[in-house]
Amino acid sequence: MIYADNAATTKMSRAAIETMVRHMNETYGNPSSLYVTGQRAKEVIEEARSEIAGLIGADPKEILFTSGGSEADNQAILSAAGLGEKEGKKHIISTAFEHHAVLHTLKKLEKQGFEITLLNVHEDGLVRPEEVESAIREDTCLVTVMYANNEIGTIQPIRKIGEICRRKGVLFHTDAVQAIGHIPVNVEEDQIDLLSSSAHKYHGPKGIGFLYAKKGIRLVNLIEGGAQERGRRAGTENVPAIAAMAAALKEEAAHMEENAAAMQAVRDRIIAGLEEIPHSVLNGDREKRLPGNVSFCFEGIEGESLLLLLDDRGIAASSGSACTSGSLDPSHVLLAIGRVHDVAHGSLRLSLGEDITDREADEIIAAVKDTVAYLRSFSPVWRDLTEGRKEFILP
Ligand SMILES: *Cc1c(COP(=O)(O)O)cnc(C)c1O
Repeated sequence: MIYADNAATTKMSRAAIETMVRHMNETYGNPSSLYVTGQRAKEVIEEARSEIAGLIGADPKEILFTSGGSEADNQAILSAAGLGEKEGKKHIISTAFEHHAVLHTLKKLEKQGFEITLLNVHEDGLVRPEEVESAIREDTCLVTVMYANNEIGTIQPIRKIGEICRRKGVLFHTDAVQAIGHIPVNVEEDQIDLLSSSAHKYHGPKGIGFLYAKKGIRLVNLIEGGAQERGRRAGTENVPAIAAMAAALKEEAAHMEENAAAMQAVRDRIIAGLEEIPHSVLNGDREKRLPGNVSFCFEGIEGESLLLLLDDRGIAASSGSACTSGSLDPSHVLLAIGRVHDVAHGSLRLSLGEDITDREADEIIAAVKDTVAYLRSFSPVWRDLTEGRKEFILP
């Protein structure tokens, strides 16, 4: 099988698995207990916290462990909103192509009287810092813009946005779930106040992540109970997962440059191959994109059918369009960059792993070319297009 859905989740690394199993066996004490096994568990947590903090330019006290990216997004946004409300500031700026963990949290706040400005994303899949700046008002309490998009892989001008927010005195959160472990991120240099991350997107375990919150930012609790995580998240800590997350991130950070270079070369090979398919388009900027992301739309086909047929050929990929119980809703990300419904339906996302080879790339290219041609051969939409009853949208 060729696994090309690493933006959805990744396989755990050997280091992460070994770390996890070791701590399951050895470090089972409750970190809040006073006996030796408990204290050892506490040490393991604090070592992981320091390790992670060091890798993103933070202080260990600024790292809070969560159940993953979604929880970190919720906590970051609700905290900033709570702080804003106290000062009578109830305006939040975000973008139309955020992850649902951000968008749905913003929807909830909208119902509570917050005003949400969702910025346009341009066709290149990039947010313009100057548009962030001009959207900031006296009553803006938060700007939240994702570091890299999970569908089209575009990397946002985070440092410029961070600089604007710091200058204007507005809190800045970034969902960096797709960025951490894959591209360099430094909260100090990027002037980030709040950042979300998830271990299973960089070969760590599922159900664990962290929230970075700059010193002085008071977080609201989503889970009440014991005093774990300095009173900001109750519940007995998942020691094996926390340690495994740190091990996975440490390994990714150590090999980041070489991994990125290798993936990028294969990525560009696949992009070049798929661009030979007529009436297709690459989604997102060619350069400012994650090293492992390939995202395309093919006119005249359904993304779901493409995925099922690729699966038959041993290729695990994903589509932007979420087809749930018969209602065909195209991806909000593809719509946000201006793809019309017909085009957005024919989408394909390949998110590569670090170990992808040229041979696998060629296998992917051949399989996608064959399958797109096959699907088009009996697509009524394609017939309308080729027989001139409908105009092509993509060149
Ligand atoms: C996967 C993902 C999340 C959610 O992370 P979980 O750990 O699965 O909750 C949030 N944001 C982005 C951009 C993601 O890709």
